[in-house]
Amino acid sequence: MKLCALSFGVLASFFAQAAQSIELENDKISVAFDENGNLVSLKNLAANKDFAGGQNLFRIICEDGLIQEREVFPDGKITVSKTADNRAEISYGGEFPVKIICTIDGDELRLDAEITNASKSKILREFQFPMIKNVQLSPKNRLIMNSEGGELFPSALAYAASKHTGYKSQDNKAVERYGKYPREVSMNFYVVEDDGCSLYIACEDARFDLTLHLLRQRRDGYKPLFLDLAMSKFPYLKPGESQTLPTFVLSPHVGDWHVSGKKYRKWADTWYKKMPAVKSVMEMNGWQRVILRQQYGTVLFPYSDFEKICKAGLDCGINSLLMFGWWKEGMDAGYPDYTADDTQGGDDALRESIKKFRAMGGNVMVYFNGQLIDVSTKYFKERGQYICDKTSAGMPHLESYPFGSDGTGLKALGNKEFGTACHAVPEWFDMLKSYVDRAISLGANGVFLDQMGGGSIQTCFDASHGHKVPFTDAMYYKAEILRKVRDYIKSKNPDISLGVERATDCTSQYVDYIHTCGFGYNYAEKDKETGRPILKSVPTFRYVFPEAKISDRGIRDDTDIERRVNICLLWGLLSDVEIYRCREIIDAAPNYKKYLAEADRLRDKYRRLIMNGTFSDTDYAVCSSKRLDYTVFVAGDEMAVVATNAYLDGESAEFSIEGYKFAEADGISAFNASAEGDKARVELKRKALAVLIFKKK
Ligand SMILES: [Zn+2]
Repeated sequence: MKLCALSFGVLASFFAQAAQSIELENDKISVAFDENGNLVSLKNLAANKDFAGGQNLFRIICEDGLIQEREVFPDGKITVSKTADNRAEISYGGEFPVKIICTIDGDELRLDAEITNASKSKILREFQFPMIKNVQLSPKNRLIMNSEGGELFPSALAYAASKHTGYKSQDNKAVERYGKYPREVSMNFYVVEDDGCSLYIACEDARFDLTLHLLRQRRDGYKPLFLDLAMSKFPYLKPGESQTLPTFVLSPHVGDWHVSGKKYRKWADTWYKKMPAVKSVMEMNGWQRVILRQQYGTVLFPYSDFEKICKAGLDCGINSLLMFGWWKEGMDAGYPDYTADDTQGGDDALRESIKKFRAMGGNVMVYFNGQLIDVSTKYFKERGQYICDKTSAGMPHLESYPFGSDGTGLKALGNKEFGTACHAVPEWFDMLKSYVDRAISLGANGVFLDQMGGGSIQTCFDASHGHKVPFTDAMYYKAEILRKVRDYIKSKNPDISLGVERATDCTSQYVDYIHTCGFGYNYAEKDKETGRPILKSVPTFRYVFPEAKISDRGIRDDTDIERRVNICLLWGLLSDVEIYRCREIIDAAPNYKKYLAEADRLRDKYRRLIMNGTFSDTDYAVCSSKRLDYTVFVAGDEMAVVATNAYLDGESAEFSIEGYKFAEADGISAFNASAEGDKARVELKRKALAVLIFKKK
C-alpha cells in the first residue's frame, strides 16, 4: 500500500513540474501543502502539535457502467499556488477536476471546494472531503462524535477499527465507521482531542445536506496502515455537472471539545433561530411516558386511569403525560388513522379523561408519528405508497417495530410494517396539520411528533416527489415542515407545545422539547489520574444549544436510581419516566419515585437556573477536586453549580467563580455546604448531590 502511495506521488509529480509547495501561517496555526497538493502541515503553533499526514485531502468515488463504486485517483495536472498571505489554491485536472481554496483565519483552515464531472458517462457519486489521511495522533487521543447529542470514544483508531463487516465490505483495504448528520448525529462536526490540543472537523452547511462523519483505518490485507479522518458528501454529479460545496473547517486549536463547540455555535448563529418554549414546558420537570394500548391490543391503562396516573406523577413533581397508544389500533399500529377507541367510549371519553388530568394541574402531550404509515391501512394503499420514501430500486422503504406480548409469535413471525412519509411531499404537511387539529379537539395542550427530530433511515430516491435524487437534503425539508407545523399550532393556540423525538440542531429550533434517543448512562472509561468514571454520553449538543430542552431516556426500572437521576440533574434534562418501557407508571418504581420527589423539589426551587438557565458544562467554576462531577448553569446575575460524587465514600471540595460570591446551597442526601469567603465548601457522600448558588459581586 505504501508502494502504491509512493507510485501515485511519483505520477502526480510528473504532472506538476511547475508546481511549488506553499505554506500559510499566522500566529496560531501553520498549514503547508507540497507541490502535489498533499497536506504536509496542519499545526497548532502554541501546542506544537501537527496532525498532517502528508497525503492529499480527498477521495472521489464514481459510478462507471456496471461498477457502482470505484475510487478515482487524480490523473491530471496539479497546481498549487499561494494567492494571498492567508490563502492558497489547489487545482486538480483530469476526468473529475477539483479546485480547493484554502484560507487560514485565526486557528482555522477553511476549505471551499468545487468539483466537476468532466467524464463522458460516469457519475461522480461521492466526494470524501476534507480527508486528513494518515492523521498523526498519539495513543492518548479521544474522539468526540456528536451521535445522539454527544458520545466519547477513548481512541479514534479503536472507533474506526471496530466496525468490521465480515464479508460485506472490503475490510482488507479499509475498515470504515461513520455517523450520519443530520440523522443520529446532532451537529455537523466532530473532534479529536490529543496532546492538550484538539482537531475540529466541521461542515458549515445550512442546507443540512447529508454529511458522513467518516473514520477509515486503511489496511493492506490485515495489516493496518493509516487512520484517515474525513467527512463525505454524495453529489451524484452527472457528466458536465459541477458543484460548489459548503465550507469545511479544519481547526487544530488549543483546548478541548468545548472550544470546538463554541466555534460551531458561532457559525450556527447565522441560521439558528430558537423559538421560545411554551410556559407549560418551561415549568415542567418531565413526563410519564405511558402506552395506553399496546400494539398487540392489550389495554394497559384505560382512559378511566387518568386521575391515578396524574396523581402518581404529581406526588413526585412530574405533572405531564406523554400519551402513547391512545387510539384503537394501539401503539405503533394504524398510522395515520388513529381510530377513536369505541371500546372505551371513543374520543369523547378520552377528552373527558384529558380534561380531568389537566384539571389536576397536568399537561397532556398527544402522540402521533411524524412519518410512519401502516401498510395495512387504506391510506397506504390509496396514497401512502406513492408519497413514502423509496429505495434506490423504487420500492417503498419499510420498517417494522414488533412489540411482544405473552407469546413469541409476534416477535418470531413478524407483525406490523410501515412505510415512511417523504417530507418533500406537500400533502404530508396537511396530514400533520390534521394531527394538530385532533390533539386540540381532544383538549390536550401538547402535540408530540415521533421520529421527527432526526433524519429518516432511508434516503428517498423517488424523483416524482420533486426533490433531488438521492434526497440527501431531506432534513432541510423536515425542519421546514416542523417550522410550518409550529406556525400552525401557534395560529390555533399559542400555549400548545410541540415536541419531537431525537436531537438535531436544524429541527431543535422549532420545537418546545426533545424526547432524546440514544442518551446513555454507561461509562466509557475511568480518568487515569483519579479513577473517576467518565460517561460515554458527552453533553456536546446540550452545551452548544443550551436553549433546546432535552429529556433523558433509559431509566426503565427501579435500580441505580440515584446515580442516573443525578446525571439527569447535572445535565439539566427533563425526566422521561418510562417504567418498564411505558408499561407502568411511576408507582411501580418506588425508589425512583422517592428520589424524583427530592430531585423535583430542587428543580422547582432553582428552576430559573438548573432547568431554564444556560447549561455551561464546566465553564466558569473552579473546583479544587478532580474527583467530583459538576456542571454550571447561568441566568441573569446568578450561577448554579450542580455537584455530585459518583464513586467515592466521601469527598470535599471548594468551588469558586470569578466575580461571584457563594450565596446558598441545597441538595439531596448526605451533603454539607458552607461559605469560605466568596467560595463554597462542599462535602458529598457517595451519590449525594448539591446545588450551589453564586451571585454576582
Ligand atoms: Zn421522496
